[in-house]
Amino acid sequence: MNRRTFLETAAAGVGTLALPATRAHAAAASQQSRATGAGANADVVVIGAGAFGGWTALYLREMGLNVTLIDAYGAGNARASSGGETRQIRAGYADQEYYTRWVVEAFARWKTRQAEWGRSLFFETGQIALATEWTKSLKDQQTVLDRVGVETHVLNREDVVKRFPQINAEGIQFGIYTPGTGVLKAREGCQAVADAFQKAGGRFTIARASLGRQAGGKLQDVTLSNGQTVSAPSFVFAVGPWLPKVFPDVMAGKMRSPRMLELFFGTPPGDERFTYPNFPNWAVGGAYGFPSIEGRGFKVAIEGTQLVDPDTQQRVLTAEEVAKGREFVARWFPLLKDQPLVESKVCQYEMSVDSNFIVQRHPALENVWLVGGGSGHGYKHGIVLGEYVANRVMGKPTDPTLAPIFTLKPQTFS
Ligand SMILES: Cc1cc2nc3c(=O)[nH]c(=O)nc-3n(C[C@H](O)[C@H](O)[C@H](O)COP(=O)(O)OP(=O)(O)OC[C@H]3O[C@@H](n4cnc5c(N)ncnc54)[C@H](O)[C@@H]3O)c2cc1C
Repeated sequence: MNRRTFLETAAAGVGTLALPATRAHAAAASQQSRATGAGANADVVVIGAGAFGGWTALYLREMGLNVTLIDAYGAGNARASSGGETRQIRAGYADQEYYTRWVVEAFARWKTRQAEWGRSLFFETGQIALATEWTKSLKDQQTVLDRVGVETHVLNREDVVKRFPQINAEGIQFGIYTPGTGVLKAREGCQAVADAFQKAGGRFTIARASLGRQAGGKLQDVTLSNGQTVSAPSFVFAVGPWLPKVFPDVMAGKMRSPRMLELFFGTPPGDERFTYPNFPNWAVGGAYGFPSIEGRGFKVAIEGTQLVDPDTQQRVLTAEEVAKGREFVARWFPLLKDQPLVESKVCQYEMSVDSNFIVQRHPALENVWLVGGGSGHGYKHGIVLGEYVANRVMGKPTDPTLAPIFTLKPQTFS
């Protein structure tokens, strides 16, 4: 479906789209734009320029639509879940083969895009996941990775010690090493997508968007913190951890945002043992992290203890949080135990009740799409999920098995 058929389908109000745009509506809205000095109208307005919204907007634009992308603080900003330095591409998902397949697709696409844009966004570090026993979950991961054709090496304790002497492998019995996985630059990746979107003719506005006029079960426009309104036949709210703030009724109990801590420990002078490409991504003892990339330090990501508000949480580590990070490093990477903390970041996950992504229409506003629920693993998928969302919005065919998985579930967080 191209732009013309998208708008015709929308105008006719038939098919899977059932969108409200008519030429009369567009003309009336355009008239209103002129009358109020409001922002230009669009075919689709995407709110949120994180990993999910940025890619959705770019794909929609590349499909030929007039797209306006709006973000309250900017692409990959310091409050967004997609902000910060880096994100891991891991491929192992126990019983969710669809995510492993998307990861494989994501590798290929990131490589193509970074070459196209002339930017270094993807570092092929490999990943080592360590375990004290060969659990059912690990076995299932291995089965899926084999089925999808991802190269893996199952290491026993001796292999782990020999290959990764930087790790204190006491108690470790197994490792799964996936050499083709890696690290993505997060903030920079979002900015690259926003740049590409604008170069392709998309409009990017920095403002907070709120739900505007509603009529006939449809959203007519969004109002912006700069006083403008933007109308469109279709809206995508890819606002990550802000979904419950924008849609409190629909999202009540369906998402929560735990505080996440990222600690970057310095590596000793002249010592490259913990630096890319000499050390991989790793996951062990309930935490995960990355080698030092571009001299930023050896990164440890651990979960905090509080649920937070993405607008207002303080993004400075407490003394207890630093101590927790130090204790972790001393246990697993003792060579770094006396190294200084050279940088830290505080973020939040946006957990859905089952950790699956959310891509669905608003139950009462049929031209509004809710997109989010990255649940701590969304960044790497943005490059594939964005196209999936764009196809859903355009009414194009998508894998029918995915829609029920990405639908809000009846259960709630207690
Ligand atoms: C510490 C940490 C480590 C992680 N590690 C990994 C990893 O290793 N691998 C991985 O794949 N994933 C990882 N994730 C998860 C991943 O980063 C997220 O799932 C993903 O970035 C979510 O993207 P998003 O676009 O849904 O949300 P966000 O990035 O939060 O984007 C939402 C955007 O909406 C904007 N917004 C909100 N409300 C409004 C409004 N009303 N008007 C206008 N704009 C608005 C915000 O400013 C924001 O930019 C990690 C997350 C964290 C925090």
